[in-house]
Amino acid sequence: EAVVHWFKRDLRTTDNRALSLASEKAKKKGVPLICMFIVSPQDYQAHFTSPARVDFELRTLEVLKEDLTEKDIPLYVTTVEDRKEVPGYMLQKFEEWGAKHVYCNIEYEVDELRREAKLVRKCLEKDISFTAVHDDVVVPPGTLKSGAGKQYSVYTPWLKAWIKHIHEHPHILDASAPPSQNPPTARTTFADLFATPIPPAPPNKALPQEPRDRLTHLWPAGEHEGLARLHRFLLEKAGKYKDARNFPAANNTAILSVHFSAGTLAARTAVRRAHETNTAHRLDAGNPGLVCWISELAWRDFYKHVLAHWPYVCMFKPFKYEYADITWEYDTQLFQRWCEGKTGFPIVDAAMRQLNSMAYMHNRCRMIVASFLAKDLLLDWRLGERYFMERLIDGDFASNNGGWGFSASTGVDPQPYFRIFNPLLQSEKFDEGGEYIRKWVPELQGVGGKAVHDPYGRGTGGEAERAGYPKPVVVHKFCRERALERYKEGLGRG
Ligand code: FAD
Repeated sequence: EAVVHWFKRDLRTTDNRALSLASEKAKKKGVPLICMFIVSPQDYQAHFTSPARVDFELRTLEVLKEDLTEKDIPLYVTTVEDRKEVPGYMLQKFEEWGAKHVYCNIEYEVDELRREAKLVRKCLEKDISFTAVHDDVVVPPGTLKSGAGKQYSVYTPWLKAWIKHIHEHPHILDASAPPSQNPPTARTTFADLFATPIPPAPPNKALPQEPRDRLTHLWPAGEHEGLARLHRFLLEKAGKYKDARNFPAANNTAILSVHFSAGTLAARTAVRRAHETNTAHRLDAGNPGLVCWISELAWRDFYKHVLAHWPYVCMFKPFKYEYADITWEYDTQLFQRWCEGKTGFPIVDAAMRQLNSMAYMHNRCRMIVASFLAKDLLLDWRLGERYFMERLIDGDFASNNGGWGFSASTGVDPQPYFRIFNPLLQSEKFDEGGEYIRKWVPELQGVGGKAVHDPYGRGTGGEAERAGYPKPVVVHKFCRERALERYKEGLGRG
């Protein structure tokens, strides 16, 4: 007999609800715990998962396997080519291992829920108990209701309810116990599982050697990294986060999203630690940096609650149905220019090049480039949403969809449609000295002073032109008017 924990986007042993429960069960029954992870190339494909992210996951699984092996717990990782076969394959393994109890943490996306439902049915038929628990979020979806008993669709009152709920139920921040040591016999009984290596990335998601080496260096994998980075951030930077977070040239945010997305760090752990660091012992008072950071982490929960309550956001539909009839452009050349960071708008280009190089982009820049794609270029925001997923190492459906909906004004609690970022003003405000632009756009390194924000408008353009920097692909003032008209037209139809 055995107990199984199915790892998904919870790739850690620390503070992992389902893993902890699985371990307790195994201990109580005096049977071994087996862990498994399925690499599903078709799911990666269907969800536009970036090669950088797949690589991070696989590198993390190596770390996880080592940590679990120290406790005599096998981690079995295998690839199942046909995603429809995943539940059947898993059941076959459960039977082979004599597993009577299976545990996992819930993922809220539609495909994942359907896969789980299939597996639950199969387990029931074979008398195997299946337990799925909330872990990915601090407060489980469905817990918070507005005065009218409805799901909130506005962040600020939702945040108030989120904070109140945590203060009234402080135990939800408690850490789960780490898994216990397996009986020593597990080593021999499941020797083949210990010996199975972590599979390589599927061919269409494999990184070439150069970016792989670079990203490995930039993004060390595994939960120990996540915990260490959290510790450093709280010690050194969190205090000034509120004022410093919006400047992309400064390294003032936590850069932890990759860990939250892969589950190498629990959002709960981060909120608990930040809360403990705050001497006011309130989530909404005391150190302004910590309060602000916790409220940013809350956005992550908010978007997951939205996804769980309105699953149609997974189906390429805008959250606000009245925005479904906007006429978007599909100019592939313009889109390509945006993707490559060759729009002639320095702040946009710097940000896109950061994304293409690091598989990451600063939050302020994500808003700038998203607004630029949807409102200046009038390209369908879903093109941008998809490109982000294909590139980001921290790609997360709910946060990405939420961020795009916010910027394109089609999402939950969005920017009003008539609020259109002026890329030049954003650039001058948040990258005043132009350090971020010069770092990512080498053609502009020799452009001095304010001209760096707009070399062909504010400057003579000579230096930029000689270095091969493109002229702006559109005129912002004209685009602004066009966007206002197009949104109004769409809303009139919707
Ligand atoms: P910090 O500023 O240190 O914040 C701490 C944590 O809070 C983050 O790691 C993240 O988990 C959460 N957080 C912060 N801001 C947001 C936000 N606006 N929405 C949701 N969670 C937030 N985040 C992702 O994790 N994956 C994505 O795919 C993603 N796509 C985005 C797309 C767009 C268009 C926009 C505007 C935002 C997107 N974000 C996404 C949110 C945000 O940009 C990143 O989480 C943040 O930049 C990560 O850097 P950090 O860890 O240093 O954040």
